[in-house]
Amino acid sequence: MVQETGQIDWKGAPELDVELLDVNEYSRPGATLKQVNGIVIHYTANPGSSAMANRDYFEGLKDAHTTKASSHFIVGLEGEVVQCIPTTEIAYASNDRNGDTISIECCHPDDTGAFNTVTYQSMVQLTAWLCNRFGLTSQDVIRHYDVTGKICPKYFVEHEDAWEQFKADVQQQIGVLVS
Ligand SMILES: [Zn+2]
Repeated sequence: MVQETGQIDWKGAPELDVELLDVNEYSRPGATLKQVNGIVIHYTANPGSSAMANRDYFEGLKDAHTTKASSHFIVGLEGEVVQCIPTTEIAYASNDRNGDTISIECCHPDDTGAFNTVTYQSMVQLTAWLCNRFGLTSQDVIRHYDVTGKICPKYFVEHEDAWEQFKADVQQQIGVLVS
């Protein structure tokens, strides 16, 4: 595991597979993320795809030039966490909030957009750890939907109760980290 620079409290951190993208204008612009005011949750909208496949898609944009897209982290179907961009740099995930948020893309098995149990557990662990690290609470965790109205992450847009439960689970895990 490659550690990022600076003093980082790794307590409660998920295991990170750090597979940084090459700096390029389509997926890793290399611009400094000056302040972290929130965490934005996404879903891949590509059922059954793995975290590494999504990471490789972002990497491929440097040659494909088809769109600008990326995410700091991707949580996979087996709960694995792939990091694509350092948290000191911006990602192309959350439109107007790229400049002050960290993004998490989440893999899902089917078109409902529901997350399986191990993916969900890693999402909670990663989000809580990032919140603790940047002095945030679950109130600072938002959906892509909350930025642009896009149906992302689909399950948490269509099931408000599941979204509220996710934030409650994140807050509980933050409590474990600070205790
Ligand atoms: Zn999204």
